[in-house]
Amino acid sequence: MEFDNIDTIAAVATAAGRGGVGIVRVSGKKALAIAKAVLGKTPQPRYAHYGPFFGSDGEVLDQGIALYFPNPNSFTGEDVLELQGHGGPVVLQWLLQRVVELGARLAEPGEFSKQAFMNDKLDLAQAEAIADLIEASSEQAAKSALRSLQGEFSREVNTLVEELIQLRIYVEAAIDFPEEEIDFLSDGKVAGQLQHILERLHKVFASAKQGALLREGMSVVILGRPNAGKSSLLNALSGKESAIVTDIAGTTRDIVREEINIDGMPLHILDTAGVREATDQVEQIGIERAWQALDSADRVLVMLQAGEAIHEEDQIILNKLPHHIPVTLVRNKIDLINHQPMVEQEKDSGRTVIWLSAKHQLGLELLQDHLKTEMGYKQTEEGVFMARKRHLDALQMALSWVENGQAQLEQFAAGELLAEDLRMAQEALAEITGRFTSDDLLGHIFTSFCIGK
Ligand code: GDP
Ligand code: ZN
Repeated sequence: MEFDNIDTIAAVATAAGRGGVGIVRVSGKKALAIAKAVLGKTPQPRYAHYGPFFGSDGEVLDQGIALYFPNPNSFTGEDVLELQGHGGPVVLQWLLQRVVELGARLAEPGEFSKQAFMNDKLDLAQAEAIADLIEASSEQAAKSALRSLQGEFSREVNTLVEELIQLRIYVEAAIDFPEEEIDFLSDGKVAGQLQHILERLHKVFASAKQGALLREGMSVVILGRPNAGKSSLLNALSGKESAIVTDIAGTTRDIVREEINIDGMPLHILDTAGVREATDQVEQIGIERAWQALDSADRVLVMLQAGEAIHEEDQIILNKLPHHIPVTLVRNKIDLINHQPMVEQEKDSGRTVIWLSAKHQLGLELLQDHLKTEMGYKQTEEGVFMARKRHLDALQMALSWVENGQAQLEQFAAGELLAEDLRMAQEALAEITGRFTSDDLLGHIFTSFCIGK
């Protein structure tokens, strides 16, 4: 069934700025009429028309290629017109204004994808994968987003939903024949199938977790006094200095964030100039922000000079760290004391200590492996699909319902309770592909897209 959107929407679909080609995309019932007016002729479906784009007084706004896709065979499932003109901001605004004059309205962020979702061209996980593919900052992340876009993740989820439904039907049949219920439930078939579903769920969860890690990455705070070698370490880890994106907001005492990636895992690094003690008010604000950021970090790296005791200043900060944040000590500048790169475990605290030299690039892989291991990042290309926290939560929820059902079966041979648990698991999974998703959630998901997608 086609979802009826009364509006015809339009947006510049290409990136802001200048480029060789810029695309204005139009979707909706008025797309054909708009095409006729702009092109001065009726476009043939799925045919590349080269020629002028006309303004309201017949003046030429630009010239380029027009493509017309009648519904339902288009990205959104509606009539779609694509005007491929020159990629300059002024020309594209002219074109956009022109189609708005002709009855289209400006699209909201993600509205094209939302329309595609509404018309069953994509499920929700696939629509999210479009945004993730566009935002991917590493090859691994892009590949996994592409896998999700092509429906690999959705197929896994749908298979699980299907299996849950089948099992529920079987269990419900047992409930309908009370005198046989116990036999039904204890013949091992239900238990076996439950076990199978659990294993499958765990597998999908593991793949999705890798995907989510490719998307969200790991967030690390580096502590250390000036000259400890923090910048040197960042450069060494990123491989090339240009890979480091630094934005320094506000005062110099504010937070400095950098992003690099380790074998595809994004690593968000927070430099801690702002974490030091300060007296004046501006500094105080920077410090508060830095502490807030610290609170959501996955790990803190403390950079110390090899062969020296922990400085008092660093110790003060270490003592103030929230207890849930794990700490790794980095002993830098091992070259100065002729130490070998190595990893060791502190006896009392259990903290990992990594001996390395940032400047001479010794022992960096020990740190990289340590960070990957701590995050559970496997760096496999196989079967990883892009996923979001929302997906992981849904999978986790489904897992706990199925586990609950398993317990009901084992302890009480309670068919009705088991059936209910299976239904809850099924609903949790269905949220991933969006079959039963609230408008609020949809709005939330699509507005985080960029305009024109
Ligand atoms: P930051 O202030 O913590 O960012 O420290 P920098 O990265 O700017 O480094 C401070 C100084 O220490 C620079 O002169 C670096 O060349 C030097 N340095 C950094 N790492 C090493 C190392 O492993 N060995 C030696 N000998 N010097 C290093
Ligand atoms: Zn520095």
